[in-house]
Amino acid sequence: EKQYLMIPGPTPVPPQVTAAMSRPMIGHRSEDFAALHRRIQEKIRQVFQTSQEVFILTNSGTGGLETAVANVISPGDRVLALITGNFGERFANIARAYGAEVDEVNFGWGNPVDLAVVKEKLAQNPGYKAVLATQNETSTGVLNDIAGIGALVAGTPALLLVDGVSGVGGIEIKMDEWHVDILITASQKAMMLPPGLAMIGVSPKAWAVIEENRSPRFYFSLPAAKKALAKWNTAYTPNVALFFGLDAALDMMLDEGLENVYRRHILLARATRAAIKALGLSLLAADHCASPTVTAVYSPEGIAADDLRKVLKQEFGITFAGGQGILKGKIFRIAHMGYAGKMDVLVAISGLEMALARLGYPVELGRGVRAAQEVFLRGE
Ligand code: PMP
Repeated sequence: EKQYLMIPGPTPVPPQVTAAMSRPMIGHRSEDFAALHRRIQEKIRQVFQTSQEVFILTNSGTGGLETAVANVISPGDRVLALITGNFGERFANIARAYGAEVDEVNFGWGNPVDLAVVKEKLAQNPGYKAVLATQNETSTGVLNDIAGIGALVAGTPALLLVDGVSGVGGIEIKMDEWHVDILITASQKAMMLPPGLAMIGVSPKAWAVIEENRSPRFYFSLPAAKKALAKWNTAYTPNVALFFGLDAALDMMLDEGLENVYRRHILLARATRAAIKALGLSLLAADHCASPTVTAVYSPEGIAADDLRKVLKQEFGITFAGGQGILKGKIFRIAHMGYAGKMDVLVAISGLEMALARLGYPVELGRGVRAAQEVFLRGE
């Protein structure tokens, strides 16, 4: 079967990006690399909506999260972790690994961060060094209100660290205006690249903390990255091929227009959700906090989510993601992230209908597809 990768990372890579990555290698201390790095810098700041430097680091998203923590957290620091699923937990665990005293607030898997709780926590504890938040919780398909959290944290000495790994490039974020101090993303999600790069923006408020931080850092040192970027360099040998790809992917995003990119993701999520509802299945996230890039769906009663995924893959070549952590085996997740369009949603839903029918679920073929088509024809 022809294969359709519909998981929330790695995501499909556009042919233009693949072509760019196959260019002959260049030296990372060359003028050509400096020019490439400079071009990327100008473009990626638009995606982050920041006037500050965005560091392109050769590591995975988790490496990006660890970079943020290692540079901000000193042993014994108090941290507020806002947890809405698996990746919120991971962020908290990284902070703990660096010796932070982590105050975890778990909002429940499937729910967004409740701003009233954040406000109360910040009022009770004026001594937080950092607040950790997830823009788009990939494990549940929930979008958090980063602007709202940022407005609350901005009035305190704490830094706001945001995991934007499965959001940035597909979902609007305004790093400066929303008072995000460190924003992290990775290449293999909405940025339309293979895995291997983390991107991290740093505010002036964060630099003051980074400079007096006492945690050990070497490869993950942001001061070292800053020094190198001043000469359009990187501290260590970067993944040059992915830099070529990033340059091309950013061109695609800016040519489409960021507003259009964000609107496209919202439309794909709406169509997916309309289809799921039309099929009588249950969505994990409520409409008001639904992720534009990934949709989590409960497998119907009597059908194991992983059996459904197996049929989809074997018979139709479609890969959906399964559940993580406490949702393992209960849900499946459909990504509509990065290089994704309307017809991808129709493929996903059409395959889902056939897999459900195969497993004996009473499905009216075409009902979900039709609901998605109607959303597309309405354009909202
Ligand atoms: N945070 C979020 C929100 C993610 O979705 C992921 C990847 N699924 C990560 C962090 C970790 O990224 P990586 O697997 O590249 O280390």
